[in-house]
Amino acid sequence: MAYIEPAPIKDKENPLESMMSRFDAAAQMLGITEEMYYILKVPARQVMVGLPITMDDGSIKVFEGHRVIHSTILGPSKGGIRLDPGVTLDEVRALAAWMTWKCAVVDIPYGGAKGGIACNPREMSAGEIERLIRAYTVAMLDVFGPDRDIPAPDMGTGPREMAWLMDEYSKSRGMTVNAVVTGKPLVLGGSLGRTEATGRGVTVAALSAMDKLRMNPYRSSAAIQGFGNVGSFAAELLHERGVTVMAISDVTGGYYNNRGIDIGAALAYRNANKGTLEGFNGAERITNEELLALPVDVLVPAAKEDVITAENADSIQAKMIVEGANGPTSASADDIINEKGIMVVPDILANAGGVTVSYFEWVQNRIGYKWTLDRINRRADRNMKDAFDRVFETSQKYKVSMRLAAYIVAIDKVASTYKFRGGY
Ligand code: NAD
Repeated sequence: MAYIEPAPIKDKENPLESMMSRFDAAAQMLGITEEMYYILKVPARQVMVGLPITMDDGSIKVFEGHRVIHSTILGPSKGGIRLDPGVTLDEVRALAAWMTWKCAVVDIPYGGAKGGIACNPREMSAGEIERLIRAYTVAMLDVFGPDRDIPAPDMGTGPREMAWLMDEYSKSRGMTVNAVVTGKPLVLGGSLGRTEATGRGVTVAALSAMDKLRMNPYRSSAAIQGFGNVGSFAAELLHERGVTVMAISDVTGGYYNNRGIDIGAALAYRNANKGTLEGFNGAERITNEELLALPVDVLVPAAKEDVITAENADSIQAKMIVEGANGPTSASADDIINEKGIMVVPDILANAGGVTVSYFEWVQNRIGYKWTLDRINRRADRNMKDAFDRVFETSQKYKVSMRLAAYIVAIDKVASTYKFRGGY
């Protein structure tokens, strides 16, 4: 009897549901068997733990933690840990699958995983968060491991939490095991280039797409939504490559200048202004919605999910969309965008520069050697470019969008690896 997902996500505009519908479409296109479909869909392992933590006031609070290993077919599983009050097993399960496809599409020897603890880190002290991370690590000792499952930062976690995780895991093993986690501080074996890696990968993806569409970067313009880690590095690097960045935005709104924003000035302003662009005067004010509809060549949504939907897709005038954020385009917008002839470089390809450099961090930890920034950038750029070319060729071969092609590349890779390895 076919496996039935225990708790389907019903909302069609949900980014995780959008991901699953694209997975289904690509699996159908590839013509994989029903057996293979379920092998690829059902998570390999799901772990739920209760974590009693002593709070600063002496009370004991129990937190629920999850870790879902979606797949280990390509290698050890990889995926972030999020601390968020809304974390559920369903969400973690879908995000773990997303990681499988992302790693496969950029040809990294990892399966996908995700972890989460339902808590509100903004209302917790550093000591409480530290105890929570250490307790979670101990509860996951038989899950984590440099050859088994390698966590990383996600929403609500960063280098600090990864350092605690690495320390607790190392203590339990009686030796330093820095390859158990990526996204560590540099002194603990973090990698050079990780901070800018996602924005850099977005830039390589955009330039590769421009090349295919015979667009000259020096005569092209871009609008970038989100001026955080991904958006600001993408803006800086696209600007460096000659692209006129006409608009940027953050949670405070959009900033537009048709002669090009001075990205250096915008970065300096943001850094001196508590991380936001509020009050930046090198541009005229627009809304985030208006930014999406600007007549630019390249649109980079790099803020949050579900910003391009069936409601606003028709107003988009860009020639290409390069998805820096995860799930910025809902599945219901796909047909409209495709009909308009807009090329979309999908999230699982465009923002995979980050996981690529996380993989390099793990490689460096395992060989006990630190690569130079130049080496990391060159290798990451080549990996992104190769992945782009593979997806582009697949989109030509199957006459499908780049998004469907990315899923086809990923599913085909995992399915054919499974066939070689064999089952029971
Ligand atoms: P970030 O927190 O550093 O930056 C987010 C930016 O978006 C900020 O400028 C914020 O002001 C802006 N923003 C928030 N809400 C907004 C709204 N409603 N409208 C417009 N702007 C808004 O986050 P980030 O690390 O840059 O991540 C951005 C996206 O990229 C997320 O979808 C994330 O999942 C995805 N992503 C990040 C990485 C990475 O390595 N950082 C890797 C892959 C994917």
